[in-house]
Amino acid sequence: MSDSLPLPLTAWPELRPGWVWLCGAGPGDPGLLTLHGLNALRQADVVVYDALVSQDILSWASDAELIYAGKRGGKPSAKQRDISLHLVELARAGKRVLRLKGGDPFVFGRGGEEAQTLVQHGVPIRIIPGISAGIGGLAYAGIPVTHRDVNQSVTFVTGHDQTGDTPGSLDWNAIAQGSQVIVIYMGMKHIAQITQRLMEAGRSASEPLAFVTSATLQQQNVVESTVGTAVDDAKAAGVEPPAIICIGRSVLMRQVLDWQSFEAGAAPRNLDPLDRGRPAESA
Ligand code: SAH
Repeated sequence: MSDSLPLPLTAWPELRPGWVWLCGAGPGDPGLLTLHGLNALRQADVVVYDALVSQDILSWASDAELIYAGKRGGKPSAKQRDISLHLVELARAGKRVLRLKGGDPFVFGRGGEEAQTLVQHGVPIRIIPGISAGIGGLAYAGIPVTHRDVNQSVTFVTGHDQTGDTPGSLDWNAIAQGSQVIVIYMGMKHIAQITQRLMEAGRSASEPLAFVTSATLQQQNVVESTVGTAVDDAKAAGVEPPAIICIGRSVLMRQVLDWQSFEAGAAPRNLDPLDRGRPAESA
């Protein structure tokens, strides 16, 4: 165990043999792991981790065995049940098991299914939430997921379902009409279809849209676009997954809140991007 990163003194829960803790690692920047996550890493015998979990975070594990269980790209998840059953086996072998997933384990991460399988097999669990890419990733891009001048609701959507297709259970008309701001996970494969459906259902082609790729990591890239030009802009900019897509006027707030560009010495582009003509917090 490294002493370079001590946990604050308090009564931390004990990861006991035969237990599985499902933990969110956050969107990428290792500093976005929670203290409960760090506490878990310090105790685990085995860490079963996903593709988007950073090496820095894994390096904080004690002498744990590291097992990669990543899957990428919306393919049918034939291996999902194997992963869950492997967790059951490890727990039954008396290991202290940490299942580490990107973002939050219960947000489009199959954490709910894994947890359910564990409980069905009598394995005791603990859930450690994480910062989800659709909130924390946007914050690193200077996009507040809610802002009183923009939205009183936000809709989180996955761009594909278990079959790899755009989710058939989604009512895109209802989403287009009822969602002030739409945040799309795993949306790159079907971005053409998604933007087309939203426009057919009445969303304006000129509505702001942003792609945030590799959010919170060194290689983070943000492409500001619109619903109508998203496909071409993504192609021109070479947008690659993992990307979070935000649709709505919140994207405009980046003109005043792109704090990472301030660190690099840039000035805000526009102090009043919504053209309110008044200070942000006047009544
Ligand atoms: N449980 C995760 C989401 C898993 S689904 C969470 O709460 O964040 C995987 C999708 O999450 C990716 O396709 C992408 O849309 C999004 N994502 C995860 N990490 C990301 C990152 N660092 N940058 C951009 N998008 C990310």
